[in-house]
Amino acid sequence: MQAGTTIFEHMSGLACAHGAINLGQGFPDFGWPQSVLQAAADAALTGHNQYPPMRGTPELRAAVAAFYGRRQGLALAPEQVVVTSGGTEALAASIFAIVQPGDEVIILGPAYDAYAPLVARAGGVAVLVPLAPPDWQLAPGALAAAITPRTRAIMVNTPHNPCASLAGPAMRAELAAVAAAHDLIVISDEVWEEVIAPGTSHASLLAEPGLAGRVIKIGSAGKLLALTGWKVGWVVADSALAERVAQSHQFLTFTTATPLQAAVAHGLGLPDAWFEAARARLAQARDRLVTRLQGDGWVVLPSAGSYFVLVDLPASGVEMADMDFCEAAVRQAGVAAIPLSAFTGGREAGGTRFIRLCFAKQDAVLDAGADALARARQLA
Ligand code: PMP
Repeated sequence: MQAGTTIFEHMSGLACAHGAINLGQGFPDFGWPQSVLQAAADAALTGHNQYPPMRGTPELRAAVAAFYGRRQGLALAPEQVVVTSGGTEALAASIFAIVQPGDEVIILGPAYDAYAPLVARAGGVAVLVPLAPPDWQLAPGALAAAITPRTRAIMVNTPHNPCASLAGPAMRAELAAVAAAHDLIVISDEVWEEVIAPGTSHASLLAEPGLAGRVIKIGSAGKLLALTGWKVGWVVADSALAERVAQSHQFLTFTTATPLQAAVAHGLGLPDAWFEAARARLAQARDRLVTRLQGDGWVVLPSAGSYFVLVDLPASGVEMADMDFCEAAVRQAGVAAIPLSAFTGGREAGGTRFIRLCFAKQDAVLDAGADALARARQLA
């Protein structure tokens, strides 16, 4: 299978080449804890550099279980945690553990761009069930209508990238009812779980009544600690499912960087106040960008989770297709954004109404990005 180059790589490359402000790829330019960087350095300098256990260091597995107990009320044992090389490897290990050739996997779309290629690589068939704007919830009955005797699993993403929505109570209940009725596994990508409104709590599908024993929950230190380049992630699931994912993981990357595991274990133990302050800082960045964009006449969709907001081009008076607008914006106006069509089946699919912007940036970068978007509007 030829997957091509991802839109993130493409747009970040163009942003570099044209000296553009990069509101495309989702990485923050602030917010990581200094003590976690120090813990990584200390671990490397004090001899924590050889292969760790395949399922992750005991310290990190215990820290993940404790973190979810404290922040989400989940009762987990360290044995239920498998450490992976980022959320991406957690997705791959989970899909390869569950999906057999010919199995159908429900993908709720728009969807994170790795899902469909990984399902195809496992020999499975991705079956798209659409989520519609502005709230991106399941239409009642749509999920049940897509189930066939070959359906094996459902991929869920909450908070959602790129739509910045949360799976609400009705959607979670419907997922649980359909998964239980048809004996399906739910692969729940929750990497954005901490990037939500200050003072709220994340509703994990692992806690959904009716889904016991069916959920593989995926997390990422990249998002939790604002260190996206570290690529430390994990799955948590009941012990039998976790064992299956571990067997798949052992022939993907086998293990994950030892000193980074030590540092992430330290980071997950930071006080709740640190995580709350991180949320508040991101909400401030989001509000700064959204206020500025709205002032310039852009129509922005609500953003409840993740680093992203979607802008509706035609509602904002721009008639270009999303991909054409993003190409023109980065080359001629100096700002990179991501077309939503990257999450709906590829750049060739004819385009969507939306572009995705990352707000996890310093104020000056957000202001310069908004200035450049105003210039891009003149090109349309
Ligand atoms: N899932 C989603 C929904 C994501 O947005 C991302 C990263 N952008 C990942 C998984 C991958 O996480 P990681 O960088 O830890 O591999």
